[in-house]
This record gives sequence, C-alpha cells and structure tokens, in this order.
Amino acid sequence: MQGLVIKSTGSWYNVLADSGERYDCRMVGKFRIKGIKTTNPIAVGDRVKFDLERDGITGIINELLPRKNYIIRKSINLSKQAQILAANLDMAILVVTLASPRTSLGFIDRFLVTAEAYDVPTVLVFNKLDLFSPQGLEILQEFKDIYESIGYPCYEVSALKGTNIPVVQDLIANKITLISGHSGVGKSSLINALLPDRDLRTGEVSEWSDKGQHTTTFAEMFELPQGGFIVDTPGIRELGIIDIEKEELGHFFPEIFKTSHDCRFNNCRHVNEPGCAVMEAVNDGDIAISRYESYLSIYHGNDTRH
Ligand code: GDP
Ligand code: ZN
Repeated sequence: MQGLVIKSTGSWYNVLADSGERYDCRMVGKFRIKGIKTTNPIAVGDRVKFDLERDGITGIINELLPRKNYIIRKSINLSKQAQILAANLDMAILVVTLASPRTSLGFIDRFLVTAEAYDVPTVLVFNKLDLFSPQGLEILQEFKDIYESIGYPCYEVSALKGTNIPVVQDLIANKITLISGHSGVGKSSLINALLPDRDLRTGEVSEWSDKGQHTTTFAEMFELPQGGFIVDTPGIRELGIIDIEKEELGHFFPEIFKTSHDCRFNNCRHVNEPGCAVMEAVNDGDIAISRYESYLSIYHGNDTRH
C-alpha cells in the first residue's frame, strides 16, 4: 500500500493510505539519505510504501518514495545528526508582523534564503492588520513593494478578526504548507483561523510520547477541510539558516542572482569588485538596500541580526 506520513514521533508514523484509512506504521531496516546523517529518515510529508501487519491495523514501512524537497534542523548535540522536519512541501508561509512584535527585514531575508536553498516556494503573510496605523500601512506597502518585485507574493490578514483568511485558505488548498515565523506573530492564531475546528493547543503529543522521552521529533500535519495539509512542528517555527557556501549565497537572493550575470567577473562576490552589476543596481534603486544589507550580513557571517 502507499500513503502519506502525516504524523511522526521518530519511531511511529501515522500514514494516511491512498485508500483513505490511517495506519500506525513502524520502520524496519535502515533508510539512508546520501550525504547527511539523520536521526529520523522519514518525516511528515513523505510518501511511503508499507505492508499491513496481521492485525490489519498497523503497518511496516518498506520504501520511501522520492522527495521533491525536505527541510532539516541541525542537531545541537554532539552526534551532529540532522533531523528531517518535513518533506515534499509545496509552500511555506512566513508570518510577519509590523508591530508587537515587529519582524525585521533581516529575519525575513534569512528565512527566504533558507527557503530558496531548500527549494520551498514562500509567501509572506502580514498578520495583525487590525493593529496597523496609517503609518503602518505605508510601511506595509514598502515591504510589499520590495518582496513582490522579487517574486514573493504578499498577503495581509488579521487572524483575530478573520480578515482575508478565505484568501489564504484558497492559497493553501490542496497543498502541503509549512507555517513559520517568530514567536508572537500569530502562527497559532492563524492556524486556528484556517482550521476552525481544531484546537492545536491541546495537541496529541501524549498519545505517542516515547515513554517519558522528550518529544522534539514530534511533528504533525493537519488536514484542511478544502484538501491539503498544514505542517506544524515547534522545531520549524523559526527556521534557522543552513550551511551555505559563501560563493553560493547570491544564488538564494533571486534578484541578486539574476543581476549577477552582468557582473564583470563571473566569480564576483558583490562586495567591492569593480564592474559589479549588483552594487550598481543597489545604487540605482533596482535592488533594495535592505536586501543587499542582508546579503552582506549573511555573507560576513553576522547572522545574528534580528
Ligand atoms: P505564535 O507565537 O506565533 O503562535 O502567536 P499566537 O498565535 O500565540 O499570538 C500571539 C499574540 O498575538 C496573541 O496574544 C494573539 O491573540 C495575538 N494575535 C494573533 N493574531 C492577531 C491579529 O490578527 N490581531 C491582533 N490584534 N492580535 C493577534
Ligand atoms: Zn557583482
């Protein structure tokens, strides 16, 4: 049988079979991913093949089907193993606020770089629209101008009042969507608005918790009434930047990458080289200064800017 992993603890996987039934599955044997050591070879969003056990209600996963993308978190322990957080994401929503708390452009740009590196298309959702002052609305327009011109769609919503929630519901229909953002921006409120029948805070962690072990590997996808899934795991709410070679950084700023073809040197770092088309575009106002500053900040390793 084939299905989609919609919940995982690292040792058990809840699989939604293509037939519509759900089965608790285990894995036997090893699944390896080239190049990285992982604590959990299978994650939510994975498509797997499995066999039912004799009891007819549990299964054994015996094949992992190819992924289109996946996101990982590097482990903080010494084993240096990575944890796969989710696979086959169709989209990431970065929830952003301009007030209480204000999300910085640096944070947005670091997230976008990571999402580009993972190959996950991203949209920005500005939440707490009900709190925006007239000046806030002007800043919103500036942010939208910057990101929409690069190709990141922007939406403004109020999770609290329900403003534009149907627009986001349409956007995520039939997709696997990751919802991310700083703590306090309203991710839980947004998810609750998108899934009115589900109370996320109750969670179902205890159901599968590994006999008192901490539950950081726990991840779950929530099925949307209109089809599709929202991925919610505490570990990915603030997606950190992954290891990116300095020379490759420009590839993950789409507007810098596009412009860099016109740089005089084909190994231009866009830092101080003569004939740098990127620096010229920044001077001409064709590339936002804030984006270029984020590029330099990440390039020089000052990625603590929030
Ligand atoms: P999370 O940490 O990102 O999950 O954020 P929460 O959903 O817990 O929201 C953080 C705070 O912001 C809570 O006090 C929410 O009531 C509030 N909040 C969330 N969305 C909105 C909104 O659209 N408007 C306003 N005014 N407050 C909101
Ligand atoms: Zn250059």
